[in-house]
Amino acid sequence: MIIDTHCHLDDSRFEGDLDDVIQRAKEAQIYGILIPGADIFDLPKAKNISYKNDNVFYAAGVHPYHHKDYQQSVLEEYLQDERCIAVGECGLDYFRLPKDDDKKIEEKEAQKEVFIAQIKLAAKFNKPLIVHIREANQDSFDILNEYAVSAGVIGVLHCYNASELLLELKENFYFAIGGVLTFQNAKNLSDILPKIPKERLLFETDAPYLTPHPHRGERNEPSYTKYVVEKASEILNISTEDLSKLSSKNAERIFKAFNKANSAKIFG
Ligand SMILES: [Zn+2]
Ligand SMILES: [Zn+2]
Repeated sequence: MIIDTHCHLDDSRFEGDLDDVIQRAKEAQIYGILIPGADIFDLPKAKNISYKNDNVFYAAGVHPYHHKDYQQSVLEEYLQDERCIAVGECGLDYFRLPKDDDKKIEEKEAQKEVFIAQIKLAAKFNKPLIVHIREANQDSFDILNEYAVSAGVIGVLHCYNASELLLELKENFYFAIGGVLTFQNAKNLSDILPKIPKERLLFETDAPYLTPHPHRGERNEPSYTKYVVEKASEILNISTEDLSKLSSKNAERIFKAFNKANSAKIFG
């Protein structure tokens, strides 16, 4: 039994067969899915999917790639919905910065501003933060330390660029492991995995992206979480069963709605 804590079920690539995808997730013992917000215009869709499926919840947020679309009032409206259980995904992504130096600085500043605004929303609405960090560990650490930790905000970090530095945030943050762990060149992540405190470990797919081996190149989906758990269990020398239990407990601790939903009914 696992919760996929980060899965873009509202992505257009799931439009044709969403029910089948959810059915396969159930068969693979995935009993909960969290849809992170990335594009503000997809929020109605995420909300709709959540209301149709008991143990699927969603978050409201703006991905750093979409920072220009940020609208505080829209996010605030969704955050009042009880099925909207987190803020994000938000963060910093320096992977595709403009070449021009001035534009580069401008882009970084704009991303930071929208990131900080969303940390403040998490504090205001008392909901966990879903954080996306890519090639921006130091800046993200500084911002989270200054704005989130001091305000008592808790959350989860995408872990495909986990580092010793980010692990210092373990008092407030969980670390979610995804398909990258199964990649041949995932040495960084497999080195850092044993250092993540067990009570802070989560699993996610980030579907439809970052598909784990042996399906790399295809569309990712929540049922593939099992490949990530299997790989993690090899590295950590813990049975997949124990690892699933432990990570589910963690997911239910940070995202309490799953706990209630689980005791009532598994999916709808
Ligand atoms: Zn992300
Ligand atoms: Zn994502």
